[in-house]
Amino acid sequence: MTAVSNIYPTASLQAIDAAHHIHPFTDTKELNEEGTRIITRADGVWLTDSDGNRIMDGMAGLWCVQVGHGRPEIADAVHKQMSELSYYNTFFKTTHPPVVALAEKLAQLAPPHMNHVFFCSSGSEANDTVFRMVRHYWAQMGKPEKQVIIGRWNGYHGSTVAGTSLGGMKAMHEQGNMPIPGVHHVDQPYWFGEGGDMSSDEFGIHVARKLVQAIDEIGEDKVAAFIAEPIQGAGGVIIPPETYWPEVKRILKERDILFVADEVICGFGRLGTWFGSEYFGLEPDLMPIAKGLSSGYLPIGGVLVSDRVCEGLIDKGGEFYHGYTYSGHPACAAAALANLEIMESENLIGYVADDIGPYLQQRWKALGDHPLVGEARMVGLMGAIELVPNKGDRSVKFAHEGSVGTMCRDLSFQNGLVMRAVRDSMIISPPLVLSHEEADLLVATTKKTLDATYNELK
Ligand code: PLP
Repeated sequence: MTAVSNIYPTASLQAIDAAHHIHPFTDTKELNEEGTRIITRADGVWLTDSDGNRIMDGMAGLWCVQVGHGRPEIADAVHKQMSELSYYNTFFKTTHPPVVALAEKLAQLAPPHMNHVFFCSSGSEANDTVFRMVRHYWAQMGKPEKQVIIGRWNGYHGSTVAGTSLGGMKAMHEQGNMPIPGVHHVDQPYWFGEGGDMSSDEFGIHVARKLVQAIDEIGEDKVAAFIAEPIQGAGGVIIPPETYWPEVKRILKERDILFVADEVICGFGRLGTWFGSEYFGLEPDLMPIAKGLSSGYLPIGGVLVSDRVCEGLIDKGGEFYHGYTYSGHPACAAAALANLEIMESENLIGYVADDIGPYLQQRWKALGDHPLVGEARMVGLMGAIELVPNKGDRSVKFAHEGSVGTMCRDLSFQNGLVMRAVRDSMIISPPLVLSHEEADLLVATTKKTLDATYNELK
């Protein structure tokens, strides 16, 4: 079969795309005037566009392609599965071998107190599942009034109605009157942007205690759960101060509130551990997962469920009226299993924890010396650079928030590296298979891009 990219030249594809395609998180009118970029191939950490340019994928697609692009092992596993059983559902007392094997594998990889998984197709669906699970759990435990879920401002939990509501993205809330009732937000642990005169450690405690204030305002007997990403990804790679998570953990335990650690980005090796919760010593009751579970080869997500929640959900729960046609899709489960097999056989967790992680972190953090950079931070292979107009003064921001970030992102693309801009910070989250030479090139291209951005601003 001929690839579409071989039939149409770039301009025709752009014109057809403009005529028919509504892009996610995009001003489609503006895009159609500019013309979209067309990616036609990818291998390892490299993308190729329709004009033959090679660009380093510094974002692992959308934080998901852990094992790199173009792995034949995954394609072969999916082909084999599709030839045997391309689809069957997991409703009505039915299952199939790949979903059984994947559930067992995830129970092995998850923290010891998490032995069950509910499958879906994305991170957003996982968080919709969380929404329904926590309310159902408390109802079965005799506390049906525990309904409110607390999220964080600038957190991201997906784009469905529940995902948008649980997340704290104000621009998303403004479209369509979100959040839905029963969701509350507290401040994020963003010391660089919001820490004022406090030390990072002071701020960590201060912002964790906003949770106490919220619980007291809402009423402890009404709060079902707190949801948070171990490190906020889409919010700008916000790495919490060291004091933050221990204090949040203490508060949630004391108040008998479920903790949902959204592992959609931090899971599957991004921080050099199987899950971000492991990195920070968290003990969540529920963990939404997606992205790195299949390295994005096919859409699959899920919610890992603790033994505690299973008591309400399974032992006392009766029928849970929730599920998706593609819950545990056999081909997606096969892709996830093949992906996890690669991660294990190539020891990608160890590689990120002890080798490429520290190697890239050291070089990335050194970019903090650049005159345009207020802070360069990274954990595992997840990093951010804060662009500032006045080095040394965190309180001063660029006049039009986001414009310098966007300029820097576009220059980076021209220089051959995909970075993402969040406000005026630059984000990277490359595939976990990044080599040392590629890490050097990533840092050199970032430096070149920072210089070019700095010169544009002069
Ligand atoms: N949760 C987190 C932490 C995410 O970063 C994302 C997506 O970026 C989601 C949930 C939503 O996942 P999806 O886009 O697969 O629906």
